[in-house]
Amino acid sequence: MKIILATANQGKIKEFKSYLQGGQVYSYEEVLEPFEIIEDGTSFKENALIKAKAVYEKLSDKEAIVLADDSGISVDALGGEPGIYSARYAGDEANAAQNLDKLIKTLKEKNLSRTPAHYTAAIALVCDAGAFCVHGWMYGHVIDEKRGNHGFGYDPIFEPIGYDKTLGELDADVKAQFSHRSRALKHAKIILKTLKR
Ligand code: IMP
Repeated sequence: MKIILATANQGKIKEFKSYLQGGQVYSYEEVLEPFEIIEDGTSFKENALIKAKAVYEKLSDKEAIVLADDSGISVDALGGEPGIYSARYAGDEANAAQNLDKLIKTLKEKNLSRTPAHYTAAIALVCDAGAFCVHGWMYGHVIDEKRGNHGFGYDPIFEPIGYDKTLGELDADVKAQFSHRSRALKHAKIILKTLKR
């Protein structure tokens, strides 16, 4: 079963490749010329489906299965921000470090030193049998300082429920046990099993 990941985010690619061990897993940049995907959906689900469909349309191998992940972090006290804008919180061209610094700055401005937040992952799956989408969530708190350098994106400020360490301080194996992405992937694997390849 050939799986193409519709993402260029190295953090996500690393996690997917480790969660889907044993399969033939490629990022779309390994099999296609780079092209821009406009994520103009209004939900994680819409954006995940936009990405997966855009990549599937360009593939010559229609037997392949495309997986796309649209994900982000939502802070309750900020009305769910940054949410679907997590990758461009500090501006369209912003990198992960700038987005993280902007969230820390916003938390400090509002005197939120530790406040509830959650990650969402929508995983879209597109193949010749159709288009599907599943979700996973991880709940916890964000803090207003970076701790640790494991993971990626907002991980250095996110403490999962039941831990007083951030995902930046915890091992990748711990995150993999209950992350939004691995939970969504558990559902995606059920769909993958039903696809005869
Ligand atoms: P997307 O590529 O448009 O789905 O953007 C997702 C953004 O959400 C990433 O760039 C990260 O900033 C953030 N994000 C999603 N999942 C994670 C995670 O597991 N850890 C840290 N940040 C994440």
